[in-house]
Amino acid sequence: MKKKLAALLAMSLVATGALAGCGGNSDTQEDTTAQTQQNDAADANTAEGGTLRMGTNATFPPYETVDDSNNVVGIDPDIAQAVADKLGMKLEIINMEFDSLIPALSADQIDIAFAGMTVDPERAEQVDFTISYATGIQAIIVPEDSTIATVDDLKDKKVGVQTGTTGDMYCTDDLGEDHVQRFESGVVATQALVNGQIDAVVIDNEPAKAYVEANQGLKILDTEYTVEDYAAAVKKGNTELLDKVNKAMEELKADGTLDEIIANYIHE
Ligand code: GLN
Repeated sequence: MKKKLAALLAMSLVATGALAGCGGNSDTQEDTTAQTQQNDAADANTAEGGTLRMGTNATFPPYETVDDSNNVVGIDPDIAQAVADKLGMKLEIINMEFDSLIPALSADQIDIAFAGMTVDPERAEQVDFTISYATGIQAIIVPEDSTIATVDDLKDKKVGVQTGTTGDMYCTDDLGEDHVQRFESGVVATQALVNGQIDAVVIDNEPAKAYVEANQGLKILDTEYTVEDYAAAVKKGNTELLDKVNKAMEELKADGTLDEIIANYIHE
């Protein structure tokens, strides 16, 4: 685990200028359903005045969830909209499984992934990350009466994770395949915890708070698995889009817009 942490810290330095923020529940499960918001037509992709196709997994409050009108809402859509506005582009949001995002970038099905995605060296071999816009912590959710109190107590236990997330990577590395159960979302993993099928859930802290709030008898341990940087990702080698998005994000950071968007959803 130390090695992972060091690698992540190294990546944090590469992903320039971390912005303080923290890295909330939707019981809506959606499969690769395309949704267009604030967008009339979807054709020209990264061209000026074209459409910025953003992929996300809207089960990750407050970064992205689906609201009552079936729109994807949250920190990431708001930041992506602000970036698209700066680039004179329309934003299209495509909701998919988290572990489909990187393949979708590679296959040109989306232009950018905005999904509370952690900057990670293995992922950085497959995609290019933008500057970081928030930090997240891998949190541990357990039943209120659990004997698990520290990261080390997870050993030999059955831990639920969301498939393909950093929580999945760390737990699989540290605990072994046999001790990890993968779910399509944190919501479903948390349900399995409530039903007593698993002993803990390892997931990002902000969604963890929302899942614990939405369910009775659960708590978040006062211990951090890892601290991570969130960034958006584009297809490996798409430096044209990367540079444009980074410039827009730098401006949004400098004028306080990014902080403002995060503060709209995370009240510390
Ligand atoms: N931050 C985690 C990761 O990148 C989880 C992201 C998510 O589930 N949307 O793997």
